[in-house]
Amino acid sequence: MLADMSSSLNDTTVATVDVAVVGAGITGLSVAWHLTQRGLSVAAFDGRGIGSGATAIQPGGVRQQWGTEVACKMAREAFSFYGEIGERLQPAVDPGMTACGYLFVAQGEAELAAQRERLELQHRLGIPSREVTAAEAGALVEGLDAGNIVGGVWCDQDGYFDRPLAVVGAFHEAAVRAGASFHDLGVEKISRDGDGWLLDLRRGAKARAQTVVVATAWDTPTLLSPLGIELPIEKEPKYLFYSDPIRERLLEPLVIAPEKHFAAKQLADGSVLASDLGAGNANRPGENREIWHSNVRRAITELLPILEYVSFPVLVEGFYDVTPDRQPVLGPLEGHDGLFVAAGLNGRGLMMAPTIGRVIADGIVNGKMDDWIAPLHAARFADGQLTPELQVV
Ligand SMILES: Cc1cc2nc3c(=O)[nH]c(=O)nc-3n(C[C@H](O)[C@H](O)[C@H](O)COP(=O)(O)OP(=O)(O)OC[C@H]3O[C@@H](n4cnc5c(N)ncnc54)[C@H](O)[C@@H]3O)c2cc1C
Repeated sequence: MLADMSSSLNDTTVATVDVAVVGAGITGLSVAWHLTQRGLSVAAFDGRGIGSGATAIQPGGVRQQWGTEVACKMAREAFSFYGEIGERLQPAVDPGMTACGYLFVAQGEAELAAQRERLELQHRLGIPSREVTAAEAGALVEGLDAGNIVGGVWCDQDGYFDRPLAVVGAFHEAAVRAGASFHDLGVEKISRDGDGWLLDLRRGAKARAQTVVVATAWDTPTLLSPLGIELPIEKEPKYLFYSDPIRERLLEPLVIAPEKHFAAKQLADGSVLASDLGAGNANRPGENREIWHSNVRRAITELLPILEYVSFPVLVEGFYDVTPDRQPVLGPLEGHDGLFVAAGLNGRGLMMAPTIGRVIADGIVNGKMDDWIAPLHAARFADGQLTPELQVV
């Protein structure tokens, strides 16, 4: 399948491959690796460096508790891949997946009812989540004030990578071992080149490929709109508060309180991570830091008093690439043969990466995407066929 484009080679052409992957975050890396496993030649391009986007910020959470069939299936497949990451990718550094469990607490009956409804779907798809009473939640999470909740849902398979960047390194190194090339060059323009594609890169370099996968998160609309492709993927700020590392283990599972827009977890290095998940909408970190901080404090006092004396001196900013239905955009772009997109991860790129890489690679090789991934097709926005995922935190 190697594209025969040697006639158009010149001095500035840095690669001529079957597939060019634009963006080397966790999404592009997984796509690149999966393509190499199908025998295709692959070159990836990222002007800011491997894993330098949102991938550098994410703290490593992996969960299967989602609210739509497509998200649950993606998470379940990725979870199973990550269970075999040692054999699949042979990472140089063990990423250290710890199944600490994710507890979603409900403080009111409406939230509890919504959580219960999602359980039915999850169970049908084999996800071992379950409802817990307030007392059970209190027993699962030492330090939780069970008097301030009415119940919740729990999945003990959900967890955290202790070293999330080792997952990034593992995909990158495995792709390189399998023959993929990585280029520290941003892509400025994508255009038609016969029946393939030409990539104009920074510093006047060029690359040619039969197929292009655009995995550039919130930068995706900028790259695709000159081709007449408009995708509603936007950049949404998110903020995480970190404590200094603490020797005592205070909080093992991840606790999420959707009504408070609050989540907290003690990481492997001992630091406690806490976030006011509604904070991003304000987008003025300097001015709003105190407000978010006091929201986090209020949630801690009410739900996790064990963290009352933990201070959070570090505020880290990152960005979600969000879509109107909070679902990724995956697959071919109609009317642009050989052009694919894998973006709009809406805060779950690490935990979904193995599935995204697999479905895109299969879509390219088979000329057809898996049927069940249809709700994520780019055309859904124009068609108004949205499947909103509400379980985004
Ligand atoms: C605060 C926070 C917490 C998170 N927590 C989690 C979590 O616990 N678990 C989880 O699964 N996910 C989490 N996420 C989400 C996760 O980080 C992202 O979904 C994931 O990193 C997206 O990966 P990506 O490769 O699609 O995008 P990115 O990592 O953003 O990579 C896109 C890449 O494209 C490159 N690029 C852009 N334009 C061009 C161009 N023109 N040419 C070449 N390259 C280009 C960029 O340089 C960048 O490296 C979190 C995100 C944030 C912000």
